Amino acid sequence: MAHDDSSWRGTYLLGVALLLPIGTVVLVSYYFTRMNPFAHEPSHDPFAYSIIAVAGGLSGVMATVLALFASATYRARVRFESEYRNLQRFLNDDVAKERTRLMRNLDLVSAAQQVSLAIKQEVEFERILSVVLEQLEHFARSDSISVFTLDETSRPVARAERRAGIDRFPPVLTQEGVERSLVEDAIKHARQVRHLDERTGQFVLAVYFSTPEGVRGVVRIARNVADEPDFSDEMPAYEQAVGQLVRMVSLGLKTASIWDRAIKDEKTGLYNNNHYQDQMRKQVALAQRTGGALSLIMLDIDKFKHINDTYGHLAGDAVLARVAEILRREARESDTVYRYGGEELCIVATGTSRDEAAHAAERLRHIIACTEFVDERGRLLPISSSFGVAGFDRHSMQSEMALKEMCDRALYVAKNHGRNCVVAALGGERFDVLERSGDPDREVKRRLGLAGDNSPLDGNRDPEPLPESAASARAQLGESVDALATSLAEVVGSDTSRARVVDHVVREAAEFLTRNLSARLGSDKPKRRRKVERRKEAIESDQHEAAPAASDKPKRRRAPRRKKGAPPIPPPLTPEEAAAKAESDRLDYLTPDEGDQLAKGKAPSKRLRKTRAQKVS
Ligand code: GH3
Ligand code: MG
Ligand code: MG
Repeated sequence: MAHDDSSWRGTYLLGVALLLPIGTVVLVSYYFTRMNPFAHEPSHDPFAYSIIAVAGGLSGVMATVLALFASATYRARVRFESEYRNLQRFLNDDVAKERTRLMRNLDLVSAAQQVSLAIKQEVEFERILSVVLEQLEHFARSDSISVFTLDETSRPVARAERRAGIDRFPPVLTQEGVERSLVEDAIKHARQVRHLDERTGQFVLAVYFSTPEGVRGVVRIARNVADEPDFSDEMPAYEQAVGQLVRMVSLGLKTASIWDRAIKDEKTGLYNNNHYQDQMRKQVALAQRTGGALSLIMLDIDKFKHINDTYGHLAGDAVLARVAEILRREARESDTVYRYGGEELCIVATGTSRDEAAHAAERLRHIIACTEFVDERGRLLPISSSFGVAGFDRHSMQSEMALKEMCDRALYVAKNHGRNCVVAALGGERFDVLERSGDPDREVKRRLGLAGDNSPLDGNRDPEPLPESAASARAQLGESVDALATSLAEVVGSDTSRARVVDHVVREAAEFLTRNLSARLGSDKPKRRRKVERRKEAIESDQHEAAPAASDKPKRRRAPRRKKGAPPIPPPLTPEEAAAKAESDRLDYLTPDEGDQLAKGKAPSKRLRKTRAQKVS
């Protein structure tokens, strides 16, 4: 185009340049022929003068017109050119935008394809969800993504989170720093909402989704755009695309969510009883056919009712979730953890012999007993668990029911052996109580002992979080009481005539507690000291009152001390024995009520109170 323009300009200049000399030459020759200025007497022709003047004038005018025309066209050219350049720039921009849009759509399609592939191929809902999260992260270039689904009451339940390329699923969601107001907004208005913090550059988008099957939820995407000054231009397109992707992958979310609900337990994130039945049937069939090893480990949290009663159901739930997390974390790749009942969990260990499984269970027992479970008020909870272990024997067991039954009985024996232990079923009526491994001093429950935890002598139902010194004092105290409790169990055995001795030991324990607690509470508090002394006196008077009644008490079945070897399964209990056992079981911890009673100087155990009550009536 530049070439064309210069040739036009050249033509005009050439025209002007040629016309001027030609006109000049024509006029000069005309002048010479008509006027003949070199003749002796030049002719005088007024007509010729006027012709010359007019012709000269005309060629001048023409030259001027041509020059003007040239300059006008030149300017038009320049203007046209600049407009053309602008147009070209706009076109380029549009093409670039179109290209980005196309790329984005391609990304969308590929993400959706990946997710649908995952739905077809994966059997684990977490893997599907993982693919969904990965695709969203890649597409939205986000720093963190959280997926919430709505429960029946339309409350958002966190399902999964991806942060810095790492997926987390309940119950290990960190949730820290996730403000939910945007998520709640999205739910309220059933649409997507965003927030861009200009100061920090934090951009958060909450996209609401709902599937025809009724699965509703929100995907929350956070991205730091502090280094992207043009992001606000891009934002509408970005939001639209992310919204589209969320809708596309909601099939994956739906599948994950439905599976999740069907086979997983909400509280712990473990597989539920339904899934246990399905899987166990398959595993047992496989073991029957191939003769491969298959073991079952059952776990029941000790005195869980006490945890619920003392610290509340929420604390109980948190304990359950945490124990489940420990099992999931510690289980082998080939193990599957299930929650098949309230606080009863189990591990199906494929390709694992009974002895190996018992070993694994003992390791788990120790880990749980060493874990410090703390409620939301900072109170340390006395948590331990008992385990039953059984191996599948294809010659003597016809179905998974037989294996479960065997395991159940081993667990029962473990409970009867003082809890916090592992018992393996050897077949028939033979059981093996495993020697506790690991460092017993690290086991929290043992350190807490019987009463240290609830501070019953203080009558304080809501103890403050303990300072370190008090905690260690309590730990020492707990240890001593634990030692006493163990002796107590040994002394009682199944001998009714020893009840008197037991009474004595219980009083000893109470006195011991009183002494140690008063030492722990500090002797600089005269009021408390007086209280403690009063209690001591009360206990002493109690002793005189309760002792004669002890002999006609029903037989107490306190769990005998755990021994190595294969003790027989205990005979079934009579109703009185069962009642006595329930009482004795209670002795493991003093409930706040018992603490109150004790604080008022009454009998230090329910058993003694009961004795007294019997006497009165
Ligand atoms: P032990 O097993 O040592 O004999 O005593 P326990 O107190 O644990 O007795 P048991 O196993 O019979 O009691 C189970 C209790 O667990 C009863 C119920 O209140 C509680 N529980 C069951 N499921 C849940 C749950 O999901 N959350 C809470 N917080 N408690 C539960
Ligand atoms: Mg139970
Ligand atoms: Mg229990």
